[in-house]
Amino acid sequence: MSTHDYSEWSAETAAIRAFQHRTHEQEHVDPLYMTSSFVYGSAAEAMRKFSGEEEGNVYARFHNPTVQLFEKRLAAMEGGEQCVATSSGMSAILSLALGLLKSGDEILASSALFGSTVGLFRNYLEKFGITIRFIPATDVVNPDAWASAITPKTRLLFAENPSNPLATLIDVQAVADVAHRHDALLVIDNCFCTPVLQQPLALGADIVVHSATKYIDGQGRAIGGAVVGRREHMQEIFNVVRTCGPCLSPFNAWLFIKGLETLSLRMKAHCEQAAALAEWLEAHPAVAKVYYCGLPSHPQHELAKRQLKAFGAVIGFEVNGGRKAAWSVIDSTQMLSITGNLGDVRTTITHPATTTHGKLTNEQRIAAGIDEGLIRVAVGLEGLEDIKRDLARGLDALAAR
Ligand SMILES: *Cc1c(COP(=O)(O)O)cnc(C)c1O
Repeated sequence: MSTHDYSEWSAETAAIRAFQHRTHEQEHVDPLYMTSSFVYGSAAEAMRKFSGEEEGNVYARFHNPTVQLFEKRLAAMEGGEQCVATSSGMSAILSLALGLLKSGDEILASSALFGSTVGLFRNYLEKFGITIRFIPATDVVNPDAWASAITPKTRLLFAENPSNPLATLIDVQAVADVAHRHDALLVIDNCFCTPVLQQPLALGADIVVHSATKYIDGQGRAIGGAVVGRREHMQEIFNVVRTCGPCLSPFNAWLFIKGLETLSLRMKAHCEQAAALAEWLEAHPAVAKVYYCGLPSHPQHELAKRQLKAFGAVIGFEVNGGRKAAWSVIDSTQMLSITGNLGDVRTTITHPATTTHGKLTNEQRIAAGIDEGLIRVAVGLEGLEDIKRDLARGLDALAAR
Protein backbone atom coordinates (compact mmCIF):
# COMPACT_ATOMS: atom_id res chain seq x y z
CA MET A 1 0.00 0.00 0.00
CA SER A 2 2.66 2.49 0.99
CA THR A 3 4.47 1.74 -2.28
CA HIS A 4 1.60 3.19 -4.35
CA ASP A 5 2.50 6.06 -6.68
CA TYR A 6 0.14 8.62 -5.20
CA SER A 7 1.19 11.36 -7.65
CA GLU A 8 -1.43 10.15 -10.13
CA TRP A 9 -4.17 10.57 -7.55
CA SER A 10 -6.68 13.40 -7.33
CA ALA A 11 -6.56 15.67 -4.27
CA GLU A 12 -9.62 13.83 -2.88
CA THR A 13 -7.84 10.48 -3.03
CA ALA A 14 -4.53 11.88 -1.77
CA ALA A 15 -6.35 13.42 1.22
CA ILE A 16 -7.64 9.99 2.19
CA ARG A 17 -4.91 7.56 1.17
CA ALA A 18 -1.57 9.20 0.35
CA PHE A 19 1.44 8.16 2.46
CA GLN A 20 -0.55 5.68 4.50
CA HIS A 21 1.85 3.42 6.34
CA ARG A 22 0.05 0.39 7.70
CA THR A 23 1.71 -1.18 10.74
CA HIS A 24 1.91 -4.89 11.66
CA GLU A 25 -1.47 -4.42 13.39
CA GLN A 26 -3.06 -4.14 9.93
CA GLU A 27 -5.21 -1.19 10.99
CA HIS A 28 -7.48 0.30 8.35
CA VAL A 29 -7.46 3.92 9.60
CA ASP A 30 -4.27 5.93 10.14
CA PRO A 31 -3.16 5.32 13.74
CA LEU A 32 -2.58 7.97 16.38
CA TYR A 33 0.96 7.87 17.78
CA MET A 34 0.39 9.50 21.14
CA THR A 35 4.02 9.30 22.20
CA SER A 36 6.55 11.96 23.07
CA SER A 37 9.69 9.90 22.59
CA PHE A 38 11.06 6.84 20.82
CA VAL A 39 13.40 4.01 21.79
CA TYR A 40 16.33 2.39 20.02
CA GLY A 41 17.77 -1.09 19.80
CA SER A 42 21.27 0.05 20.71
CA ALA A 43 23.40 3.02 21.72
CA ALA A 44 24.84 3.10 18.21
CA GLU A 45 21.36 3.33 16.64
CA ALA A 46 20.45 6.15 19.04
CA MET A 47 23.59 8.00 17.98
CA ARG A 48 22.75 7.59 14.28
CA LYS A 49 19.16 8.84 14.81
CA PHE A 50 20.20 11.80 16.95
CA SER A 51 22.93 12.87 14.56
CA GLY A 52 20.59 12.61 11.59
CA GLU A 53 22.90 10.10 9.93
CA GLU A 54 19.95 7.72 9.84
CA GLU A 55 16.36 8.86 9.29
CA GLY A 56 13.97 8.15 12.11
CA ASN A 57 12.07 9.53 15.05
CA VAL A 58 13.94 11.31 17.84
CA TYR A 59 11.52 13.38 19.90
CA ALA A 60 7.95 14.44 19.26
CA ARG A 61 8.65 18.16 19.42
CA PHE A 62 9.91 17.64 15.88
CA HIS A 63 9.28 14.01 14.89
CA ASN A 64 5.91 12.38 15.33
CA PRO A 65 4.50 10.02 12.72
CA THR A 66 0.92 11.31 13.11
CA VAL A 67 2.01 14.94 12.74
CA GLN A 68 4.20 14.00 9.79
CA LEU A 69 1.33 12.25 8.02
CA PHE A 70 -0.80 15.39 8.37
CA GLU A 71 2.10 17.47 7.02
CA LYS A 72 2.62 15.21 4.02
CA ARG A 73 -1.05 15.12 3.09
CA LEU A 74 -1.51 18.89 3.39
CA ALA A 75 1.67 19.50 1.36
CA ALA A 76 0.33 17.18 -1.35
CA MET A 77 -3.00 19.01 -1.40
CA GLU A 78 -1.34 22.46 -1.60
CA GLY A 79 1.16 21.28 -4.21
CA GLY A 80 4.08 22.23 -1.94
CA GLU A 81 7.37 20.43 -1.39
CA GLN A 82 7.13 20.41 2.38
CA CYS A 83 4.78 21.33 5.21
CA VAL A 84 5.59 22.19 8.82
CA ALA A 85 2.70 21.78 11.26
CA THR A 86 2.38 24.08 14.25
CA SER A 87 0.37 24.39 17.45
CA SER A 88 -1.91 27.13 16.00
CA GLY A 89 -2.38 29.34 12.99
CA MET A 90 -0.69 32.14 14.91
CA SER A 91 2.37 30.01 15.68
CA ALA A 92 2.55 29.11 11.99
CA ILE A 93 2.90 32.83 11.20
CA LEU A 94 5.32 33.36 14.11
CA SER A 95 7.51 30.42 13.06
CA LEU A 96 7.53 31.68 9.50
CA ALA A 97 8.70 35.11 10.67
CA LEU A 98 11.35 33.70 13.03
CA GLY A 99 12.63 31.38 10.34
CA LEU A 100 12.83 33.80 7.42
CA LEU A 101 13.29 37.30 8.86
CA LYS A 102 15.97 39.16 10.78
CA SER A 103 16.27 42.57 12.36
CA GLY A 104 16.13 45.29 9.70
CA ASP A 105 13.83 43.33 7.40
CA GLU A 106 10.41 44.58 6.44
CA ILE A 107 7.01 42.98 5.93
CA LEU A 108 4.60 44.55 3.50
CA ALA A 109 1.09 43.37 4.37
CA SER A 110 -2.48 43.88 3.34
CA SER A 111 -4.22 45.89 6.05
CA ALA A 112 -7.21 43.54 5.77
CA LEU A 113 -5.66 40.95 8.08
CA PHE A 114 -6.78 38.75 10.95
CA GLY A 115 -6.50 40.87 14.13
CA SER A 116 -3.94 38.69 15.92
CA THR A 117 -1.73 38.67 12.83
CA VAL A 118 -1.62 42.47 13.00
CA GLY A 119 -0.91 42.19 16.75
CA LEU A 120 1.93 39.71 16.17
CA PHE A 121 3.52 41.93 13.54
CA ARG A 122 3.08 45.22 15.43
CA ASN A 123 3.52 44.25 19.09
CA TYR A 124 6.16 41.55 18.82
CA LEU A 125 8.04 41.48 15.52
CA GLU A 126 8.57 45.25 15.63
CA LYS A 127 10.14 44.80 19.08
CA PHE A 128 12.89 42.81 17.38
CA GLY A 129 13.60 45.35 14.67
CA ILE A 130 11.33 44.04 11.93
CA THR A 131 9.30 46.81 10.30
CA ILE A 132 5.70 46.33 9.20
CA ARG A 133 4.02 48.43 6.57
CA PHE A 134 0.43 48.04 5.48
CA ILE A 135 -1.25 48.51 2.12
CA PRO A 136 -4.63 50.22 2.72
CA ALA A 137 -7.57 47.82 2.34
CA THR A 138 -8.92 49.75 -0.62
CA ASP A 139 -5.58 49.44 -2.50
CA VAL A 140 -4.72 45.77 -1.99
CA VAL A 141 -6.63 44.89 -5.16
CA ASN A 142 -4.12 46.93 -7.16
CA PRO A 143 -0.74 45.21 -7.79
CA ASP A 144 0.79 48.64 -8.50
CA ALA A 145 0.05 49.66 -4.89
CA TRP A 146 2.25 46.74 -3.77
CA ALA A 147 4.91 47.62 -6.35
CA SER A 148 5.15 51.24 -5.22
CA ALA A 149 5.23 50.37 -1.50
CA ILE A 150 7.93 47.70 -1.73
CA THR A 151 11.47 48.67 -0.68
CA PRO A 152 14.87 46.96 -0.80
CA LYS A 153 14.31 45.90 2.82
CA THR A 154 11.02 44.11 2.08
CA ARG A 155 11.44 40.36 2.54
CA LEU A 156 7.82 39.22 2.84
CA LEU A 157 4.56 40.28 1.25
CA PHE A 158 1.64 38.97 3.26
CA ALA A 159 -2.10 38.73 2.48
CA GLU A 160 -5.23 36.76 3.22
CA ASN A 161 -7.13 35.89 0.10
CA PRO A 162 -9.99 36.66 0.01
CA SER A 163 -10.00 39.10 2.90
CA ASN A 164 -12.22 38.92 5.95
CA PRO A 165 -15.05 40.04 6.03
CA LEU A 166 -15.31 42.03 2.78
CA ALA A 167 -13.92 39.33 0.45
CA THR A 168 -11.43 41.64 -1.24
CA LEU A 169 -9.06 39.65 -3.46
CA ILE A 170 -5.49 40.20 -4.46
CA ASP A 171 -4.32 39.01 -7.85
CA VAL A 172 -1.90 36.39 -6.50
CA GLN A 173 0.02 36.00 -9.75
CA ALA A 174 0.50 39.76 -10.17
CA VAL A 175 1.52 40.39 -6.54
CA ALA A 176 3.87 37.36 -6.65
CA ASP A 177 5.54 38.94 -9.70
CA VAL A 178 6.01 42.17 -7.72
CA ALA A 179 7.57 40.21 -4.85
CA HIS A 180 9.91 38.24 -7.11
CA ARG A 181 11.12 41.31 -8.99
CA HIS A 182 12.36 42.56 -5.59
CA ASP A 183 13.73 39.28 -4.23
CA ALA A 184 10.90 39.06 -1.73
CA LEU A 185 8.49 36.20 -0.99
CA LEU A 186 4.69 36.24 -1.21
CA VAL A 187 2.91 34.55 1.70
CA ILE A 188 -0.80 33.76 1.44
CA ASP A 189 -2.94 32.90 4.45
CA ASN A 190 -5.17 30.32 2.76
CA CYS A 191 -7.34 29.52 5.72
CA PHE A 192 -10.62 30.81 4.20
CA CYS A 193 -10.26 28.81 0.98
CA THR A 194 -8.16 25.78 1.87
CA PRO A 195 -6.31 24.02 -0.99
CA VAL A 196 -9.67 22.70 -2.16
CA LEU A 197 -10.70 26.16 -3.42
CA GLN A 198 -7.37 27.90 -4.03
CA GLN A 199 -3.80 26.74 -4.53
CA PRO A 200 -1.71 29.89 -4.04
CA LEU A 201 1.58 28.10 -4.76
CA ALA A 202 0.37 27.16 -8.23
CA LEU A 203 -0.58 30.82 -8.78
CA GLY A 204 2.96 31.95 -7.94
CA ALA A 205 2.95 32.49 -4.16
CA ASP A 206 5.97 31.15 -2.29
CA ILE A 207 4.46 30.13 1.02
CA VAL A 208 1.01 29.23 2.30
CA VAL A 209 0.01 29.50 5.95
CA HIS A 210 -3.00 27.88 7.55
CA SER A 211 -5.02 27.99 10.65
CA ALA A 212 -6.08 24.34 10.63
CA THR A 213 -8.47 25.35 13.39
CA LYS A 214 -10.91 26.54 10.73
CA TYR A 215 -12.05 24.44 7.75
CA ILE A 216 -9.31 21.79 7.95
CA ASP A 217 -10.68 20.59 11.27
CA GLY A 218 -14.04 21.95 10.21
CA GLN A 219 -15.84 20.77 13.30
CA GLY A 220 -14.68 23.20 15.95
CA ARG A 221 -12.58 20.74 17.97
CA ALA A 222 -8.92 21.67 17.86
CA ILE A 223 -6.36 24.46 17.40
CA GLY A 224 -3.50 24.00 14.97
CA GLY A 225 -1.69 25.48 12.01
CA ALA A 226 0.70 24.79 9.16
CA VAL A 227 3.16 26.39 6.76
CA VAL A 228 3.65 24.95 3.26
CA GLY A 229 6.24 25.83 0.63
CA ARG A 230 9.64 25.03 -0.85
CA ARG A 231 12.08 22.83 1.04
CA GLU A 232 14.71 25.60 1.41
CA HIS A 233 12.24 27.80 3.32
CA MET A 234 10.51 25.00 5.19
CA GLN A 235 13.81 23.71 6.59
CA GLU A 236 14.33 27.09 8.31
CA ILE A 237 10.79 27.00 9.68
CA PHE A 238 11.13 23.35 10.75
CA ASN A 239 14.25 24.33 12.71
CA VAL A 240 12.28 27.06 14.50
CA VAL A 241 9.56 24.59 15.53
CA ARG A 242 12.19 22.00 16.48
CA THR A 243 14.11 24.45 18.65
CA CYS A 244 11.48 26.84 19.97
CA GLY A 245 8.70 24.30 20.38
CA PRO A 246 5.39 25.54 18.90
CA CYS A 247 4.70 22.01 17.66
CA LEU A 248 1.35 20.45 16.83
CA SER A 249 -0.04 17.88 19.25
CA PRO A 250 -0.29 14.41 17.66
CA PHE A 251 -3.90 14.20 18.83
CA ASN A 252 -4.81 17.42 17.03
CA ALA A 253 -2.88 16.23 13.97
CA TRP A 254 -4.95 13.06 13.98
CA LEU A 255 -8.17 15.14 14.10
CA PHE A 256 -6.90 17.22 11.18
CA ILE A 257 -6.08 14.05 9.22
CA LYS A 258 -9.71 13.08 9.69
CA GLY A 259 -10.68 16.63 8.67
CA LEU A 260 -8.68 16.45 5.43
CA GLU A 261 -10.50 13.25 4.45
CA THR A 262 -13.81 15.11 4.15
CA LEU A 263 -12.46 18.59 3.32
CA SER A 264 -13.34 18.54 -0.41
CA LEU A 265 -16.85 17.37 0.29
CA ARG A 266 -17.39 19.85 3.12
CA MET A 267 -16.00 22.82 1.19
CA LYS A 268 -18.27 21.99 -1.75
CA ALA A 269 -21.28 21.94 0.55
CA HIS A 270 -20.20 25.09 2.46
CA CYS A 271 -19.77 26.98 -0.83
CA GLU A 272 -23.07 25.85 -2.33
CA GLN A 273 -24.94 26.93 0.77
CA ALA A 274 -23.08 30.26 0.93
CA ALA A 275 -23.71 31.03 -2.75
CA ALA A 276 -27.44 30.42 -2.28
CA LEU A 277 -27.56 32.43 0.94
CA ALA A 278 -25.64 35.35 -0.63
CA GLU A 279 -28.19 35.54 -3.45
CA TRP A 280 -31.05 35.40 -0.99
CA LEU A 281 -29.51 38.15 1.14
CA GLU A 282 -28.89 40.33 -1.91
CA ALA A 283 -32.60 40.12 -2.76
CA HIS A 284 -33.77 40.91 0.78
CA PRO A 285 -35.21 44.44 1.15
CA ALA A 286 -33.48 45.00 4.53
CA VAL A 287 -30.02 44.27 3.09
CA ALA A 288 -28.14 47.26 1.66
CA LYS A 289 -25.09 45.43 0.36
CA VAL A 290 -23.61 41.93 0.19
CA TYR A 291 -19.88 41.21 0.09
CA TYR A 292 -19.38 37.79 -1.49
CA CYS A 293 -17.00 37.30 -4.41
CA GLY A 294 -19.27 34.65 -5.92
CA LEU A 295 -21.91 37.29 -6.71
CA PRO A 296 -21.71 38.96 -10.13
CA SER A 297 -22.17 42.27 -8.25
CA HIS A 298 -18.80 41.80 -6.48
CA PRO A 299 -16.21 44.09 -8.12
CA GLN A 300 -13.70 41.25 -8.39
CA HIS A 301 -16.03 38.47 -9.42
CA GLU A 302 -14.04 37.84 -12.63
CA LEU A 303 -10.74 37.57 -10.74
CA ALA A 304 -12.44 35.30 -8.20
CA LYS A 305 -13.63 33.03 -11.02
CA ARG A 306 -10.07 32.78 -12.35
CA GLN A 307 -8.42 32.15 -8.98
CA LEU A 308 -10.91 30.11 -7.00
CA LYS A 309 -12.68 26.81 -7.65
CA ALA A 310 -15.64 28.11 -5.61
CA PHE A 311 -16.12 31.25 -3.58
CA GLY A 312 -15.90 30.21 0.04
CA ALA A 313 -18.48 30.36 2.79
CA VAL A 314 -17.91 33.69 4.52
CA ILE A 315 -20.42 36.41 3.65
CA GLY A 316 -20.42 40.03 4.78
CA PHE A 317 -23.63 42.02 4.44
CA GLU A 318 -24.76 45.47 5.49
CA VAL A 319 -28.11 46.50 6.85
CA ASN A 320 -29.25 50.12 7.02
CA GLY A 321 -29.47 51.52 10.53
CA GLY A 322 -25.93 50.96 11.78
CA ARG A 323 -25.02 49.05 14.90
CA LYS A 324 -28.55 48.98 16.35
CA ALA A 325 -30.01 47.37 13.22
CA ALA A 326 -27.12 44.90 12.86
CA TRP A 327 -27.34 43.85 16.50
CA SER A 328 -31.12 43.37 16.20
CA VAL A 329 -30.60 40.90 13.34
CA ILE A 330 -27.90 39.05 15.30
CA ASP A 331 -29.97 38.99 18.49
CA SER A 332 -33.06 37.74 16.64
CA THR A 333 -31.31 34.53 15.64
CA GLN A 334 -32.12 31.45 17.67
CA MET A 335 -29.99 28.79 15.99
CA LEU A 336 -26.91 30.56 14.58
CA SER A 337 -23.91 30.74 16.91
CA ILE A 338 -23.00 34.29 17.90
CA THR A 339 -19.22 33.96 17.78
CA GLY A 340 -16.20 35.30 15.96
CA ASN A 341 -15.06 31.84 14.93
CA LEU A 342 -15.61 30.36 11.48
CA GLY A 343 -14.92 27.25 9.46
CA ASP A 344 -17.31 25.10 11.40
CA VAL A 345 -20.27 22.91 10.45
CA ARG A 346 -22.29 25.30 12.63
CA THR A 347 -23.18 28.64 11.03
CA THR A 348 -21.70 31.55 12.94
CA ILE A 349 -22.72 35.20 12.99
CA THR A 350 -20.82 38.20 14.26
CA HIS A 351 -20.72 42.01 14.20
CA PRO A 352 -17.18 42.74 12.95
CA ALA A 353 -17.13 46.41 14.06
CA THR A 354 -17.48 45.43 17.73
CA THR A 355 -15.78 41.99 17.73
CA THR A 356 -13.17 40.90 15.19
CA HIS A 357 -12.37 44.52 14.28
CA GLY A 358 -13.28 46.04 17.66
CA LYS A 359 -9.69 47.02 18.49
CA LEU A 360 -9.41 49.34 15.49
CA THR A 361 -9.88 53.06 15.98
CA ASN A 362 -12.92 54.60 14.32
CA GLU A 363 -10.73 55.94 11.54
CA GLN A 364 -8.96 52.63 10.94
CA ARG A 365 -12.31 50.86 10.86
CA ILE A 366 -13.74 53.24 8.29
CA ALA A 367 -10.55 52.95 6.21
CA ALA A 368 -10.94 49.17 6.34
CA GLY A 369 -14.52 49.49 5.08
CA ILE A 370 -16.06 47.94 8.20
CA ASP A 371 -19.45 49.65 8.52
CA GLU A 372 -21.38 49.60 11.81
CA GLY A 373 -24.24 47.95 9.87
CA LEU A 374 -22.00 45.11 8.68
CA ILE A 375 -22.75 41.52 9.72
CA ARG A 376 -20.54 38.52 8.96
CA VAL A 377 -21.98 35.06 8.51
CA ALA A 378 -19.76 31.99 8.08
CA VAL A 379 -22.15 29.52 6.52
CA GLY A 380 -22.19 26.05 8.03
CA LEU A 381 -23.79 22.79 6.99
CA GLU A 382 -27.19 22.98 8.67
CA GLY A 383 -30.20 22.94 6.35
CA LEU A 384 -30.17 26.10 4.22
CA GLU A 385 -33.83 26.84 4.88
CA ASP A 386 -33.19 26.77 8.64
CA ILE A 387 -30.32 29.25 8.27
CA LYS A 388 -32.49 31.55 6.14
CA ARG A 389 -35.39 31.35 8.59
CA ASP A 390 -33.10 32.27 11.47
CA LEU A 391 -31.79 35.33 9.64
CA ALA A 392 -35.20 36.28 8.20
CA ARG A 393 -36.63 36.87 11.68
CA GLY A 394 -34.50 39.97 12.26
CA LEU A 395 -34.26 41.03 8.62
CA ASP A 396 -38.02 40.89 8.03
CA ALA A 397 -38.57 42.97 11.16
CA LEU A 398 -36.12 45.60 9.84
CA ALA A 399 -37.80 45.63 6.43
CA ALA A 400 -41.23 46.10 8.05
CA ARG A 401 -40.14 49.25 9.88
C1 LIG B 1 -8.07 32.07 12.88
C2 LIG B 1 -7.14 32.66 11.92
C3 LIG B 1 -5.77 32.73 12.17
C4 LIG B 1 -5.16 32.27 13.48
O1 LIG B 1 -5.30 30.91 13.66
P1 LIG B 1 -5.38 30.22 15.12
O2 LIG B 1 -5.44 28.78 14.77
O3 LIG B 1 -6.58 30.76 15.79
O4 LIG B 1 -4.13 30.59 15.82
C5 LIG B 1 -4.95 33.26 11.20
N1 LIG B 1 -5.46 33.73 10.04
C6 LIG B 1 -6.77 33.70 9.76
C7 LIG B 1 -7.27 34.21 8.46
C8 LIG B 1 -7.67 33.16 10.68
O5 LIG B 1 -8.97 33.14 10.41
